[in-house]
Amino acid sequence: MKNVENQLNRRNALKTLGLGSTAGVLGLLGSSKAHAAIKDVSTPSYEKGIQVKITKVRAILTAPYGTNLVIVKVETDQAGLHGIGCATFTQRAHTVVSAIEEYLDPFCKGKNVANIEDMWQTAYQSSYWRNGPVLNNALSGVDQALWDIKGKMAGMPVYDLLGGKTRFAVDTYTHASGKSTGEVMDDVEKYKEQGYRNIRIQLGGYGSTHLTNNPDWKQGGFGNAGDNTMDPQVYKRGTIEIFKKARERFGDKIELLHDMHERLQPMDAIDMIKKVEEYRPFFIEDPFSPENIGWFKMLREQTSVPIAMGELLNNPHEWLEPMSSRLYDYIRIHISQIGGITPAMKVARLGEWFNVRTAWHGPGDTSPVGHAANAHIDLAIWNFGIQEAQHFKELTYEVFPGTPTVKNGYMHVNEAPGLGIDINEKLAKRYPPVKYNYNWTQVRGKDGTPIRP
Ligand code: MG
Repeated sequence: MKNVENQLNRRNALKTLGLGSTAGVLGLLGSSKAHAAIKDVSTPSYEKGIQVKITKVRAILTAPYGTNLVIVKVETDQAGLHGIGCATFTQRAHTVVSAIEEYLDPFCKGKNVANIEDMWQTAYQSSYWRNGPVLNNALSGVDQALWDIKGKMAGMPVYDLLGGKTRFAVDTYTHASGKSTGEVMDDVEKYKEQGYRNIRIQLGGYGSTHLTNNPDWKQGGFGNAGDNTMDPQVYKRGTIEIFKKARERFGDKIELLHDMHERLQPMDAIDMIKKVEEYRPFFIEDPFSPENIGWFKMLREQTSVPIAMGELLNNPHEWLEPMSSRLYDYIRIHISQIGGITPAMKVARLGEWFNVRTAWHGPGDTSPVGHAANAHIDLAIWNFGIQEAQHFKELTYEVFPGTPTVKNGYMHVNEAPGLGIDINEKLAKRYPPVKYNYNWTQVRGKDGTPIRP
């Protein structure tokens, strides 16, 4: 009885998504065709019934909350059946749009939606030169959209296709910040009252750059007006202080996190992490830039603080050696940056072998579609660690109906087939892309030397 009810619920969900008639045409939920398909043991499943072909791959560029988001919509030859995926590389959004429209659309047109792995592998190498954030994001849009379509065709949420739930919801962390220690503590209090158990603390922006004014380089007529300045010792002292105060005020009942954003020189980074160890961080994120990965071994030998790393890495191979050497505890991956759900699942499964857990990147410049993809994987994998949460506004739910919800610090997806999220294109058009200064918060030392994130 329960199964029948579930199937009916899914049929209703399909109808809600405008797919009731499509499912009927495909015969995917019809019992007689389903039985015939089960008895047929020689025809490959992708040749059974009606083969669904891609007719168009479109890029949708929208900025409903002032951040340029790139969404891919994969359209099919079945009326009403489409999928969407996140291809957001906000700093170079127009370049991703061009990669989708000029290259991926003709590449995908006419292909069967069923073969996601084949599509990923062939699209990945179709440019011969590969593995950059522009092409990976474009590919992610297609990849996520194909998982969305597969879920709709199967009548299952994507987490179900990935193996089903291993937890009831997705535990998240949120960001507390302020220009003074008191402001940071008050922000922690606010989120604690909202039910968050895991709170990231930052003083004065990444690297405490908001606390340093009137730098020498500016007086010397160097750099650009919008550039920030960082004093490594101001940042180090302030960060140790907010950890100390947070433990004094909130005791041991909350988890504290911190993102270094790769801003310190290696020895300063190691020194600071050793000094916050006594305040028991849940993790410290990105102590070193990708160029400084060789310093991790020295860090691990000196402290037991858990480390999260990896949002700037591009290719799953970049995690292999650090994971197998246990150089960090949490994998920070920006899933669209590495090409979507398909490669992210491989890295997640690899992490299980080494007891490395996930902490997918979930900032404001991941689209709501990307957050839904994060959450579906989070629900399905065993070695989930924690998820960076967003506070979605009312408008987000209007432009992206089905956006995940967050309650008491837990993120939930709905039970509709696929990713459970769509885009209201008419509304999205009302929020055209914004002009972007194309410099991701340039930070300089006191003499003006650029500091890498
Ligand atoms: Mg980060």
